[in-house]
Amino acid sequence: MPYQNTLDFSKGMDEKDPLKSFRDKFHSPSFHDNEVVYFTGNSLGLQPKTTGAYIQKELDAWAKYGVEGHFLAEKPWFSYHEFLTEKAAKIVGAKPEEVVVTHSLTTNLHLLMVSFYRPEGKRTKIICEAKAFPSDAYALESQVKFHGLNTETDLIEIAPREGEYLINEEDILNKIAEVGDELAMVMIGGVNYYTGQLFDMNKITEAGHAVGATVGFDLAHAAGNINLKLNDWGVDFAAWCGYKYLNSSPGGVSGMFVHERHANSPQLPRFAGWWGYDKETRFQMEPGFKPMYGAEGWQLSNAPVLGMAAHLASLDLFDEAGMDRIGAKRDSMTAYLEFVIEDISEKNKDRCTLEIITPKQVAKRGAQLSIVAHGQGKALFDELTLQGVIADWREPNVIRIAPAPLYNSYEDCYRFGQYLQNAIQ
Ligand SMILES: *Cc1c(COP(=O)(O)O)cnc(C)c1O
Repeated sequence: MPYQNTLDFSKGMDEKDPLKSFRDKFHSPSFHDNEVVYFTGNSLGLQPKTTGAYIQKELDAWAKYGVEGHFLAEKPWFSYHEFLTEKAAKIVGAKPEEVVVTHSLTTNLHLLMVSFYRPEGKRTKIICEAKAFPSDAYALESQVKFHGLNTETDLIEIAPREGEYLINEEDILNKIAEVGDELAMVMIGGVNYYTGQLFDMNKITEAGHAVGATVGFDLAHAAGNINLKLNDWGVDFAAWCGYKYLNSSPGGVSGMFVHERHANSPQLPRFAGWWGYDKETRFQMEPGFKPMYGAEGWQLSNAPVLGMAAHLASLDLFDEAGMDRIGAKRDSMTAYLEFVIEDISEKNKDRCTLEIITPKQVAKRGAQLSIVAHGQGKALFDELTLQGVIADWREPNVIRIAPAPLYNSYEDCYRFGQYLQNAIQ
């Protein structure tokens, strides 16, 4: 369908949107004179209107029952995480036993790497992406050092080719084959946080396994955004956070995935805590760690119930909408936003060019578009903020925006274009 950069057209698209009723299920920021365009769901998702009630329910149970809430609360805290498992598993394309929600993202990445980065003999190397999210870079670096190895030789970063923004996927696959039996693990962001590039996780997993390495992904920018199939793809492990596309409160709980083939591997080394202990006999408090079957066996601590309640509020909305419908709107709305930006760029070409560095191919991206504003700079971003756009600026010159299918509208995309036009003036 030919798009038009007009208010009427965008409203027409919203009218036909099967998910249109979800926008009203979220609080929208209201701190600005202009109507805010919130395009940072990839950084902190908006608050579902139901979140408060979900949390209040657990506060009430705490008030009423004290410690007995572990068993007497309507959703007993003892097994609270189990209420989230199936819904989280659906979002990442996993079986329930492969997923657990607990801790925070970087913690979970470390816990998983303790089990799945097991350098031995000459098989010591990790392949990751260059300019990974800083927390991932630090986590990888410290894992290598933890094993007494050398980051110069054992951490291999795949960078975009000279003069390019995106990583050529062939370069990852070729490097995996080349490192071969020296490769211990591949760990990459499923969607690159900076460019929005989506990697073929299936292919990368196959390539890693072909040379005998384990393969894991950081899905911070993929969970709730991309239609994932972690079980089918055979990925060994993955972790993601609940607060970006999954709208589950600032610093909210994280999810982790361990493939079913590792579900019953008590011999896999891990950093253990009591909540990973076989729940049938946990309270006999015997010495000697006996891990639970599946991903639950990587839990350390009893669940932070208030954060879990916030996550459950959002997971229920995802469940209602379904990732298929979310994915369809994501592609259509992102394409419309891309059209609007290109239209504004064309109309202002004497002043600046807006280059979208995110892949054009729908199969290679999710909801995020990263824009380089040639001939402008931070000043343009600051002006956009003054207009009412909540977006994200990354040095040296990238504006990242992400329309979230559950609460953003086509009209937001149109409005963004108008604010952008005003900001360029
Ligand atoms: C957001 C993000 C993080 C943040 O980690 P926390 O432990 O939740 O603070 C880490 N890695 C990536 C790739 C991210 O996008």
